[in-house]
Amino acid sequence: MKALAVYPEEKDLRLVSIPEPRLDSPEQVLIHPLEVGICGTDRDIVSFEFGTPPQGLEYLVLGHETIGEVVEVGRNVEGFRKGDLVVPTVRRPCPDPSCIPCQTHQSDMCFTGRFTERGIRSASGYLTELIVDHPAFLARIPRELRSVAVLVEPLTVTEKALKELDEVQSRLPWQCPPGTPGGRYGCRSALVLGAGPVGFLAAISLTHLGMKTYLASRNPPDDPKIQVLLDAGIGYFCSAVKTPQEIAAAIGNIDIIFEAAGSSQLSFEYLPVLGINGIYIMTGVPGPGNRVTIDGDDVMRRLVLNNQVILGVVNANIDAFRRAVHHLALLSEQYPETVQALISTRAPMEDFSQYLTQKRRGEIKTVLTL
Ligand SMILES: [Zn+2]
Ligand SMILES: [Zn+2]
Repeated sequence: MKALAVYPEEKDLRLVSIPEPRLDSPEQVLIHPLEVGICGTDRDIVSFEFGTPPQGLEYLVLGHETIGEVVEVGRNVEGFRKGDLVVPTVRRPCPDPSCIPCQTHQSDMCFTGRFTERGIRSASGYLTELIVDHPAFLARIPRELRSVAVLVEPLTVTEKALKELDEVQSRLPWQCPPGTPGGRYGCRSALVLGAGPVGFLAAISLTHLGMKTYLASRNPPDDPKIQVLLDAGIGYFCSAVKTPQEIAAAIGNIDIIFEAAGSSQLSFEYLPVLGINGIYIMTGVPGPGNRVTIDGDDVMRRLVLNNQVILGVVNANIDAFRRAVHHLALLSEQYPETVQALISTRAPMEDFSQYLTQKRRGEIKTVLTL
């Protein structure tokens, strides 16, 4: 069967023919991936910055954001049938029996660092005709979400962040009356950094929670994708022409900064404008080597005097995937055009070379179809 694979040793990316997988235990499920989303991680892998083939193979099948259809289930599988739509998780448990997070379906919090990630690290990805998986790592997708469910995986980052945000902000000692914009902790304003799919999904989710939400990125305001934000009621600032201080002056107290740009320079430039009792969520993973100078006294003073929190969030577990499915349904109901518009391009897997190596103007999420 066909697969799109990267060969790190040869520094090559090509369509290959690989053996079809089979169910080799009655607990497994055979799935046909229908669509696979491309993100910055894939682009880093195809430029050979990282990406590790499974043990014993010289290639890594690419792709970690997918929606697939179940084509066969093992006889001991409960809860899934042929024809069901599913989204599989990415990160899988490490083999250490003493790693409590991995033993309790929270491999996103793995202590040993010996986890695998499908399509990224030591496990095959989803840009191929058939994959085998285990029901514990599958989120079920309602039929009506078929056209947007490839967004579930990128939404899980926001999903995990929002759950932790809720837990962290429960430290605030007052209760806001039900119906307060931004939820019971009264977070009123949020600033998202970065105009990629994670930033867009975060901005829509924060707006959905009732917060006045803004997004800042280097994209010029006439980039067609910025209109998608404006249509959903999200404010926009072009960070190429406005300083963080000017943006903060226009917003007021910034309760949440959600970083989804992957640049340490940009992240730390915005740290001084985080508001009183604010929380700064970082989700980007910059490459090594960019040294940033910060005013340490100022950062520390603000953190302490303003009760601020900096929170790093990576990846997500199956619970976050299930919550993401639920929330994607709500977002699709409230902002149907916006959610559809997030998938800016669909192209057959065979055309991968046009889409994988570079970003195009107006691109939000490019999806390869199988
Ligand atoms: Zn991704
Ligand atoms: Zn672990």
